[in-house]
Amino acid sequence: MSRDILSMTFEELSAEFSALNIQKFRAKQVYEWLHRHLVSDYDEMSNLPKSLREELSEMFPLYTCKIARKQVSKLDNTVKYLFELHDGDFVESVVMKYKYGYTICVSSQVGCKMGCAFCASTLGGFKRSLLPGEILSQLYIAQKDLGERISHIVLMGMGEPLDNYDNVMRFLTLITDEKGLNISMRNISLSTCGIVPKISEMLDKHLQLTLSISLHAPSDELRSRIMPINKKYSVDELLRICRKYASETSRRISFEYAMLAGVNDSDECAVLLASKLKGMLCHVNLIPVNEVAESPFKPSSHERVERFVEILGKSGINATVRRKLGSDIDASCGQLRQKENSNRKKGVE
Ligand code: SAH
Repeated sequence: MSRDILSMTFEELSAEFSALNIQKFRAKQVYEWLHRHLVSDYDEMSNLPKSLREELSEMFPLYTCKIARKQVSKLDNTVKYLFELHDGDFVESVVMKYKYGYTICVSSQVGCKMGCAFCASTLGGFKRSLLPGEILSQLYIAQKDLGERISHIVLMGMGEPLDNYDNVMRFLTLITDEKGLNISMRNISLSTCGIVPKISEMLDKHLQLTLSISLHAPSDELRSRIMPINKKYSVDELLRICRKYASETSRRISFEYAMLAGVNDSDECAVLLASKLKGMLCHVNLIPVNEVAESPFKPSSHERVERFVEILGKSGINATVRRKLGSDIDASCGQLRQKENSNRKKGVE
């Protein structure tokens, strides 16, 4: 880890270089090559002497992602990347174009431990957490490939970001660094299934990012059935820390609610949800569940979704229905998964 140069802050990289008697200005050059010019090979660092490039590549491996496959939606130009990591594992990322610019949805782990019943990321089990540089690299490689500036990030791909807390925090430090891409914390959303102690730890940092909570059910009975994490941290415990988060950061919490036909979409659910969220600085994002081949859940009807919005609205809770992007390439919420196929076809479509 200590030699993983892409995950080092500028200060750490400078300290490493100085311990090796490499001239000070080289640290700045290398850091800028990595985090401004987004190169993934020392050979591209053209203002470095060849001997130094060779020395560095031996000492500091570059754990960048490679594009193993790229799919572009014919419906809305959403792009899904399958990235291969240095050890042969795979993760997916999705780039979406909105009016305000390009947003990337990045993965934080290979697979996921959380076991949510409706989510594809959990199906292949958990492999490992990503390094900070591997999370960065998804954005760097996508931005270079698209030739477009990516201005917004959602940590909503594969994995549970708060189950990889330290690496995700470091990723946030690096991506918001003014010596790097300097993306504003306000343009970043972090989505969690609700690991309460980690939310609390993050709250102490007072970050200006948007906290997204995958709630999906208003009662413990229901939520524990579809999200095992709820057996550890109850709905009330989760909402208590959310209230605290919203009031202390003055940032609106975004609650994700995948609507599963006949499961969590009744009027009673909407009424209970509204009562639990009352008075909180928040917003509810309703997502008719995206179908995952192996899972039994079906999306709620349009009428059900509208009724939900209406009930929430009457109680003063702002709710919107999430627009579906990239549905022809399985790029929608919860459809990203670990793909490990030894016969995989490499190459870009
Ligand atoms: N582990 C984090 C990050 C994943 S974000 C979290 O749980 O928040 C992915 C979002 O898509 C989460 O809100 C997740 O609950 C939701 N999701 C998962 N599967 C889905 C599906 N099939 N349809 C709609 N949303 C889904």
